[in-house]
Amino acid sequence: MLDADFFRRWMAAATASVNREAERLTALDSPIGDADHGSNLQRGFTAVATALEKEAPETPGAILVLAGRQLISTVGGASGPLYGTLLRRTGKALGDAPEVSEAQLAEALRAGVDGVMALGGAAPGDKTMIDALVPAVDALGDGFAAARAAAEEGAVATTPLQARKGRASYLGARSIGHQDPGATSSALLIAGLEEAAA
Ligand code: ADP
Ligand code: MG
Ligand code: MG
Repeated sequence: MLDADFFRRWMAAATASVNREAERLTALDSPIGDADHGSNLQRGFTAVATALEKEAPETPGAILVLAGRQLISTVGGASGPLYGTLLRRTGKALGDAPEVSEAQLAEALRAGVDGVMALGGAAPGDKTMIDALVPAVDALGDGFAAARAAAEEGAVATTPLQARKGRASYLGARSIGHQDPGATSSALLIAGLEEAAA
C-alpha cells in the first residue's frame, strides 16, 4: 500500500528533478515556445514543497490536492492549470483514505489525465504532456518502472509530431522536429513515482 509518506516522497522527487532539469526544459521550450517551461515548473514545485511543509496534509488525497492548488495559483503558463488539474483531480479521486493501492493510484491518475484532456482539449498525438501521461497511465498496471519507461518513450515520440495545442501549435509545421517540453516534464513527474517507491 502507498501511504502519505510515499506521496510526500513523490512530490519531493518531482521537485528535485524539475530543479535539476529546469534548464533543459526551458531550452526545449525555446524553439517551439517562449522559453519558460523550466522556470514555470521550478516556481510551481517550490511552492508545492513549501506548502506541503507548512500545511502538513495527512492523506495521499490531501497531499495531491494541495500540490495541485499550488501549481494552479503560482504557475502563470499553460502548464500550471494543466498540471494543477492533474494532481488535484487525482487527489480528489483518492478521497481521504490513509493508504491506497497501486491499482487505486492508477485509476485516480486516469481521472486526473482525463481532467487535463477536458481542460486543455488535447488528445494523444497533439504533441503535449498528454503524449507522455496517457501511455504512463496505460502502463501503470505493470508497475512504476514500466510507467516511467512508457512516459519517456511517449515524450521522445513527440519529436516528429506537429503541435495541435498550446503555444507550439502557432508554429504549424515548424513545430516538427522538436521534443515537447511538457511531455518531457511529465516523464519526470512519472519517474518520481519509481523514485518514491525505491
Ligand atoms: P506556456 O506555453 O504558457 O509558456 P509552459 O511553457 O509552462 O506554458 O508549458 C508548455 C507545455 O504545456 C507544452 O509543452 C505542452 O506540453 C503543454 N500544453 C500546452 N497547451 C496544452 C493543452 N491544451 N493541453 C495539454 N498540454 C498542453
Ligand atoms: Mg512556455
Ligand atoms: Mg509562457
